[in-house]
Amino acid sequence: MSFLSYVREQFEEAAQILNLNEGLREVLEKPERTIIVSLPCKMDNGEVKVFTGYRVQHNSARGPYKGGIRYHPDVTLEEVTALSMLMTWKCAVVDIPFGGAKGGIRCDPKSMSQAELERLTRKYTMAIARVIGPYLDIPAPDVYTDAQTMAWIMDTYSKMYGEPTPAVVTGKPIALGGSEGRNEATGMGVAIVTREVAKYLGKPLKGARVVVQGFGNAGSISAKLLQEMGCRIIAVSDSKGGIYSKDQLDVEKIAEHKRKTGSVINYEKAKNITNEELLELECDFLIPAAIENVITAKNADRINTSAVIEAANGPTTPDADKILFEKGILVVPDTLASAGGVTVSYFEWVQNLTRSKWSVEDVKANLDTKMVKAFNDVMRTAKEYAVNARQAAMIVAVKRVAEAVKALGSWF
Ligand code: NAD
Repeated sequence: MSFLSYVREQFEEAAQILNLNEGLREVLEKPERTIIVSLPCKMDNGEVKVFTGYRVQHNSARGPYKGGIRYHPDVTLEEVTALSMLMTWKCAVVDIPFGGAKGGIRCDPKSMSQAELERLTRKYTMAIARVIGPYLDIPAPDVYTDAQTMAWIMDTYSKMYGEPTPAVVTGKPIALGGSEGRNEATGMGVAIVTREVAKYLGKPLKGARVVVQGFGNAGSISAKLLQEMGCRIIAVSDSKGGIYSKDQLDVEKIAEHKRKTGSVINYEKAKNITNEELLELECDFLIPAAIENVITAKNADRINTSAVIEAANGPTTPDADKILFEKGILVVPDTLASAGGVTVSYFEWVQNLTRSKWSVEDVKANLDTKMVKAFNDVMRTAKEYAVNARQAAMIVAVKRVAEAVKALGSWF
């Protein structure tokens, strides 16, 4: 099944449970606007290359469109469309006043210089400038784009419209109106959700064994914060492999080891293991924070944890989801567990529009409130409809967006 079909199927399931009529389903399923742009870009060697860029705006009933921009050789319109729909649901689950969008450029950023990336980003911004804006569509970083990319977008947009417009993008450098805590936001959200899962399952957080796959931004920060909350991080990994200690690992020291050697593996106080072995370790909380489709029908039976908290996007396949549910393992879906990033993006946008600056403590406190409320909404819905947490998150989201669409009325 393609990624887009899977995303649509998840939506259809929720729509059916909510008994939405056919017309409303069609409104919610189709993107409101799809833009494909050709981007001629001068390369450093003087040649001109033409890249293809996309921006898909799925739904704006609850507010301006919101979603990242990715640079990758495999970007397709279908993938961007699916991701735009997921953004609508993600913003609705955490109840922030945004719709969903996603963008991308089909390019190989690893083979391009900074100057080439800057020229391409500015061309893309000019091409989509009429359909983005602080009250219209607010892009953010995604795969292989970062704070610098956002700074170029903000600058191009601001020059075109003749006024500084920081609120047109989020995930900016702090110097340009980026928010304190934005870099740690996804990991913070994952840690807060894990703490709530422990409460929900009646398990002590102190001493809980946590396994984290992927020691990048989301994974390493989740691990650090959970260790501070009293958990024992017993295994972590990256693309080169994993490490395990039956007692616990010191997250700060591992981060330092990775900075020095380029990987978490070969850490002297731990045993090297494979990423496959890591996923099957006995633990209290398993946090996939690397790539998609790592828990599949092949290994789901051997997953030995109380809960999976999906920091990564799409780490569990639909077949595996069913197996985990039957085994009584709680899976907190990506739409909820990884929503800390977009929530702090919303805080950044609010700060830019109100010309204010929040402290990191304010950001953390507000994020905590949002994530706890979202987690409780989802678990209450799971109980009410007798469904798993993934289906419940979809129900919460689709219900909110459907209500907004209905309340807007129509000119059909
Ligand atoms: P990152 O690039 O900082 O880190 C990814 C980590 O995963 C790296 O340590 C990498 O070595 C490791 N990795 C790559 N392939 C692997 C493999 N096959 N097995 C094990 N580890 C592997 O990325 P990130 O920003 O931390 O994002 C991780 C996941 O979280 C992605 O799925 C992303 O979509 C999702 N996510 C991130 C954010 C965010 O704000 N960073 C927000 C929402 C969702």
